[in-house]
Amino acid sequence: MTEYIATIGLETHIQLNTRTKAFCSCRADSRDDLPNTNICPVCTGQPGALPSPNAEMVRKALRLCLAMHADINPVSYFDRKNYLYADMPGGYQVTQNYQPIGVGGWLDVDMEDGRTVRIHIDNLHMEEDAGKTRNEDGVRLIDFNRAGVPLVEMVTQPDLHSADEAAVYLMRLRQLVRWIDVSEGDMEKAQLRCDVNVSVAPAGADRPGKKCEIKNVNSIEAVRRAVNAEIKRQTGELEAGRPVEQWTIEWDDEARELRKMRSKENAVDYRFFREPNLMPVVVSEEMIRKVRAEMPELPRERKLRFISQYGLPAYDAGLLTAERETADYFEETLKVYDGDPKRVSNWMMNEILRLMHDLGISAGALKVRPADLAEIIRLVEGRTVTMATGKQLIDLVQESGKSPAEIVNEKGLAMVSDDAALREICEKIVEAHPKEVAAYLAGKETLLGWFTGQVMRETKGKADAKRAGEIFKRIMNYELEGVHNERL
Ligand code: ZN
Ligand code: MN
Repeated sequence: MTEYIATIGLETHIQLNTRTKAFCSCRADSRDDLPNTNICPVCTGQPGALPSPNAEMVRKALRLCLAMHADINPVSYFDRKNYLYADMPGGYQVTQNYQPIGVGGWLDVDMEDGRTVRIHIDNLHMEEDAGKTRNEDGVRLIDFNRAGVPLVEMVTQPDLHSADEAAVYLMRLRQLVRWIDVSEGDMEKAQLRCDVNVSVAPAGADRPGKKCEIKNVNSIEAVRRAVNAEIKRQTGELEAGRPVEQWTIEWDDEARELRKMRSKENAVDYRFFREPNLMPVVVSEEMIRKVRAEMPELPRERKLRFISQYGLPAYDAGLLTAERETADYFEETLKVYDGDPKRVSNWMMNEILRLMHDLGISAGALKVRPADLAEIIRLVEGRTVTMATGKQLIDLVQESGKSPAEIVNEKGLAMVSDDAALREICEKIVEAHPKEVAAYLAGKETLLGWFTGQVMRETKGKADAKRAGEIFKRIMNYELEGVHNERL
């Protein structure tokens, strides 16, 4: 049996989260606006309207280039890519074809099987987005709100070899663009769009197979499914002795099905030429220094530091650095708590991430602040409250915004570890359950857990369970049996 190797490259369009559009002062984010309410002569391609470049777009593009370790072209240009399409009213898209802002670069990605793969970038270029078309009752509707929104297109080298690798790369890319605040990176909202090139060839072949391009796959799971389906299709063709033709393909994720859109035999001639209405983009050394100085520690570096500095397992470090705010939250907590980092990590993973998930908000938006979490952990460690109360406190602080200590006082949540108080509760339970006491004394020692559970119920989780167990033993084993032991 022949073994086949898949080669995958990704072209991603990243929607920059600038305040205004690329070449006019219309707002860039108008997702919730009524169609065509956020437009002007420039972004609707009116003859004679003059574009002027958005400095924030250039800064964000530069930031992304530097995070991807790309070389910066000190001078880059905008070009017109000519084609006629209803949502591109000027008849061309402004892009950077000949001299893009960033060239080369790479992203190291830790794969699920433990390997680290370096994915090389061909280039990064700025361009404008098109409008949106929609067909309704046989009528084509066009919304230009999105026309002119700035994008960075990033093209990888064919360094990926499976659907899983492509999916992990996209997850890391989404994490990175959010982390450095250049894009919201939400694939479902089309802030991150990708076309995937797939080619399959027999192992050891001196040339890669013909590549097919899958257009606009809009979720990471859809990418995984589409690539797997395409690898299977091309492998089937090769096994049957048929050559793979160069196609452009559409993936229907609902039907889980690939559809041929067109053959790619004759490439379209876009007649690229320099956009005459825009000056070259000049990036000075000083600008690069400034953007570099503002660059945060990147997610993978931070993950590796969490492992080495705090001794966290890779799994913990990965979860804690999924978002920059979460990583900040963890380290802020450690500044106040100053104890075992793994303990803080456990609380974060079990309680804080759960709360964020339940409320659908980021760590920075929680009312439970790092100082509150540190205080709660201390309260549990110092045996002022039980573990169960500690977990409850997370929610109570979130609901009320009060400090953990304040809530403990107000609601009387302190652990009942006072022997006299506990003993009184235990005695009542023993009296009320003669059958269980008899069974316990007859040798069913597992009932001790049941007795302790009764105390926890009685005290709403505030009892020191270990101490309660000891008191039960004393009452039942010795006092009821008539054995007296002073030492107990
Ligand atoms: Zn505009
Ligand atoms: Mn493009």
